[in-house]
Amino acid sequence: MPNRRPLVAGNWKMHGLRASVAQLEAILRGCGRVRGDVDLMVCPPATLIAAFATAAEGSRVAIGGQDCHAEPSGAYTGDISAEMLADAGARAVIVGHSERRSYHRETDADAHAKALAARRAGLVAIVCIGETQAERAAGRTLAVVERQLAGSVPDRGEPDNLVIAYEPVWAIGSGLTPTAADIEEVHGMIRERLAKRFGAPSEGIRVLYGGSVKPGNARELLAVRGVDGALVGGASLKAEDFLAIAAAYA
Ligand code: PEP
Repeated sequence: MPNRRPLVAGNWKMHGLRASVAQLEAILRGCGRVRGDVDLMVCPPATLIAAFATAAEGSRVAIGGQDCHAEPSGAYTGDISAEMLADAGARAVIVGHSERRSYHRETDADAHAKALAARRAGLVAIVCIGETQAERAAGRTLAVVERQLAGSVPDRGEPDNLVIAYEPVWAIGSGLTPTAADIEEVHGMIRERLAKRFGAPSEGIRVLYGGSVKPGNARELLAVRGVDGALVGGASLKAEDFLAIAAAYA
């Protein structure tokens, strides 16, 4: 079993004002109760990255972005490049989140281009993949996730440039979660595909589970074979809940 450090990352989505740095400060104060080998990350809205990176400097909490443009700069009003995120202090960026895929019609090709942009800027790309309810009901989960993985993840994936987040779309924000067996099956397939494509270096690439992870179910979900941590949405907004999830690694 390769030694993959667990990663618990919080996706704040479009939540947070400058005063929210208080939640980050509470995480920084409380993270001593989380096992020392668990990596922690908070991905606030882009407006807060610089302030959060300053507040978290020198701590064990890394700061990440939630999306980036594929180009380093240019006439793309309202967009933010991976280089800008890195310059603001981010160490990683989420790409291909299902909310980007559904509300902004982003494709696997978009996620692929953004993951490459992240690498160009020296950021870890957290590439999100996952099936919809209809796809699961139709028995297409593995095929869909496999297709997204192949299409969204660039070549030469390594632990230093890539994290995968398996997030069933129907589990995000719904309070629903797959069974442990279902998660294990998907993570097993993902790990197999990563090994086939990237060989030995793939063994260090972390595969997170995301979708309604809460303090009450974290212990069970994080114990599933093949789950190397969690991408947490709603429950990451409160320092107490985020820390309780990360502390599920006893
Ligand atoms: C997410 O948005 O990545 C997510 C997992 O959300 P939630 O934890 O709220 O389901």
